[in-house]
Amino acid sequence: MKTIPHAEPVPSEAATEVLAMLQSGDLFRYTADADSPVTRLEKEFARIMDVPFALAVNSCSSAIFLSLKALGLGSGESVLVPAFTFAAVPSSIVHAGCKPVLVDTGSDLRLDMDDFRRKLTSGIRAVVLSHMRGHTSDMDAIMEACQDRDVPIVEDAAHSLGTTWSGRKVGTLGRVGCFSFQSYKLINAGEGGMLIASDPDLVARAIIMSGAYEHNWEKHAIVNARFVEWQNKLPLFGLRMSNLGAAVALSQLPDVPRRARNGRENHDYLATKLTASGLFQVPKPLPQEVRAPDSIQFLLNGLDNAEDAAVFQQLAEKKGVNVQIFGHSRDNARAFWNWKFLEEQKGLSQTREVLMRTCDVRLPVHLQKAELDRIGGALVEVAQAVVPAKRSMCWQGSANGVYGDRVEAMNDSTTGQQSSGLAGL
Ligand SMILES: *Cc1c(COP(=O)(O)O)cnc(C)c1O
Repeated sequence: MKTIPHAEPVPSEAATEVLAMLQSGDLFRYTADADSPVTRLEKEFARIMDVPFALAVNSCSSAIFLSLKALGLGSGESVLVPAFTFAAVPSSIVHAGCKPVLVDTGSDLRLDMDDFRRKLTSGIRAVVLSHMRGHTSDMDAIMEACQDRDVPIVEDAAHSLGTTWSGRKVGTLGRVGCFSFQSYKLINAGEGGMLIASDPDLVARAIIMSGAYEHNWEKHAIVNARFVEWQNKLPLFGLRMSNLGAAVALSQLPDVPRRARNGRENHDYLATKLTASGLFQVPKPLPQEVRAPDSIQFLLNGLDNAEDAAVFQQLAEKKGVNVQIFGHSRDNARAFWNWKFLEEQKGLSQTREVLMRTCDVRLPVHLQKAELDRIGGALVEVAQAVVPAKRSMCWQGSANGVYGDRVEAMNDSTTGQQSSGLAGL
């Protein structure tokens, strides 16, 4: 049996429900009069996110696409999007008939606010904001800038379930929030996505366009009044979720807080270890942010050329740690220069440079301390072998927006603070 290394087993309640569905054949969300698994998932997701409306779809990509369509875009409008994101995101923008305009990403893997402000011109009709690898960009500044210009924000919160910003749930800060239940995300339904919003008219349009044909929208009782106006006026894109995926996702919702906490503790524990070695810089959370990571990103000081990077990656691999360097691995879907379906992107030299140096290691939320120690130990050992000593020393004190420098990190470990101590940094 092949298991996904970083997924937890799906809770057994899902098996009972799926088996019953296989026997009844009731797999389509709109067959039952009420309370199909998809409907229950929507209700429960909206409840835990404290939003009035949630629409389940077949992927986060579909949720982003539908968000733009429901905002009334699709005639070549320009949409800002971080240059560091997954290829599916600019793809969804293109799919919606819009034009992605890429914004530089800083070394903390968040939107570069200077470039954002420069590019937020009168021609921009929406922002699709990917919080890549769960790093939340400066939402206070972004929301203020967008409010001033009345530009809607679609949050791509695919990696942000369980993350908060000043106590508010990430994904609820923009006009629309989009989530993924693809297997590498906090909830693993194989595939699946969710669109959340509080504007009933926008949600009504999204529901119809997701494929609620004829009067199936009547099964979304919560926004009934809005639909009559849109009946037969919108295309049906067939992006619905099936009851099978919904039952699998539903069984995992109660685990979200625990998974988020485990992920954060694991990340921060390893971040402390790496930082204390003096060889790595780990982007630290913004003060408003409590994160829910399932991976760790770091810059290895001195790893600034292709040869060093390749050697580091290979040696780590030999020690059983899979390291991805976004800009190096062939055809990486997170490197914007590989998005050949867009016109050639000029500038963005900062993002390019960051992606050539940023390492990425997945951290399954169920990892135990011993395993984290092994990963951390291997990374430090390999870094010591690869990075010339002189370079490893020269960044100290110059780092901005990263976990504390070597001295601070050592202080942390002497106070006995491990995981939770870093979350507030
Ligand atoms: C996974 C991911 C997506 C795409 O999600 P799908 O459900 O596979 O469409 C979009 N954005 C980010 C940041 C992701 O990590």
